[in-house]
Amino acid sequence: MTTRHAVVSGASIAGLSAAFWLRRAGWEVTVLERATAFRDGGQNVDIRGVGHEVLAKMGLTEAVRAQNTTETGTVFVDGSGEVLVELPSDGPDGATAELEILRGDLARTILRQLPEEVGVDYGDPIAAVRDEADAVTVTTNSGRVLRADLLVIAEGVRSTTRDLLFEGQVDRRALGITMVFGTIPRTADDDSRWRWYTTTGGRQVHLRPDNHGTTRAILACTEAEDPTRLDRTEALARIRDRFSGVGWEAPRILDGFEGSDDVYFDHLTQIRMPAWYRGRVCLAGDAAWCVTPMGGGGASLALVSGYVLAASLSGTGSSSLPTGLAAYEAWMRPLVDDVQQLPRWIKPFAFPRTRLGLALRRAADKALMSPVLAPLTAKFTRIAHTDSALPPIAATGSAR
Ligand SMILES: Cc1cc2nc3c(=O)[nH]c(=O)nc-3n(C[C@H](O)[C@H](O)[C@H](O)COP(=O)(O)OP(=O)(O)OC[C@H]3O[C@@H](n4cnc5c(N)ncnc54)[C@H](O)[C@@H]3O)c2cc1C
Repeated sequence: MTTRHAVVSGASIAGLSAAFWLRRAGWEVTVLERATAFRDGGQNVDIRGVGHEVLAKMGLTEAVRAQNTTETGTVFVDGSGEVLVELPSDGPDGATAELEILRGDLARTILRQLPEEVGVDYGDPIAAVRDEADAVTVTTNSGRVLRADLLVIAEGVRSTTRDLLFEGQVDRRALGITMVFGTIPRTADDDSRWRWYTTTGGRQVHLRPDNHGTTRAILACTEAEDPTRLDRTEALARIRDRFSGVGWEAPRILDGFEGSDDVYFDHLTQIRMPAWYRGRVCLAGDAAWCVTPMGGGGASLALVSGYVLAASLSGTGSSSLPTGLAAYEAWMRPLVDDVQQLPRWIKPFAFPRTRLGLALRRAADKALMSPVLAPLTAKFTRIAHTDSALPPIAATGSAR
């Protein structure tokens, strides 16, 4: 059998996992990343459900465990930092999962596990794609031409190549929630738990420990306008206005963000598509199905998608590419649907506007953590679980 060639666009969790597993299945793989160097940064992501199995198959469980963020649990606090409620964090699927790692650390760990034959080319993204019966031809910005059997688009929620090739099929559902993530200096009062403060006006403040001697902070609020369209100074000024008078650690976080070089703005947007492939092109990770932090498990789904894609295509010849891609989509879709279907009450519940709303929310939190309702509550963090076994992968290549 001749070696098949895949071009993967995007070198984060989904793209690197696809590259790893396609190589393991015997493909020749070229990865194109828009950034000019490896993209570090990002906050806590967790490995859940079937993500554990894929990580173990990659031989990376212990490497991820060794880079655990050190977070020991999750608590809801009031405006003076007093603990109101402690969330269950025992077992693999607690609010603080057993395997919590920073996004950049996870991406770097997979990158280092790639066999050296997999080339990762930085700073030269796709400019044009010709998808034909016998090959997909990719031309990069610099004019390089790559002829391949498959193009995997793993460019995240705002993927431009997806928008180019799947025009009219991308349903972007903005949830009306902005989240700002950033790294700030650690202080002696920062403890080992994820401290989560919800207040009126649809605003939340979060502090989480990390394993790098700093603190990870999040400001989240209901917001109609997308801050990712603004420049950093303007977006930060808007967030400062939105969080004025909030108290607790908000002023410290706002000041910390001014001096932080990895502030990441997200206007939570689900991506829904009728199909995740067309011809010789397929989508993986957030580019295909962004579930947002409101759904949760985006990193686990991205990790799993690389394995399932390679397994679904392994053992199939070039002529049966559509069958393999259909099998990939059929396996992944139930996991994605499970986290994309958000109940209508979840946003007003998570982001109460009034004092009454906040009081009701706090009473509900106490009830939800009671021994009677705790099993029901645990379902919210049970993500990426499935009764379907992972499809087998035909190991024709070696990935170290
Ligand atoms: C720098 C960074 C920080 C993040 N921080 C957080 C966070 O704090 N909290 C959170 O919940 N999620 C964060 N995310 C998103 C999170 O990583 C994803 O939701 C999840 O892990 C799924 O990963 P993905 O590989 O599908 O997409 P992403 O992790 O978004 O990766 C997409 C990759 O594609 C690259 N790319 C984009 N466009 C192109 C193009 N045209 N050509 C080639 N490459 C392209 C990007 O540079 C990136 O490396 C962050 C993502 C990035 C890239």
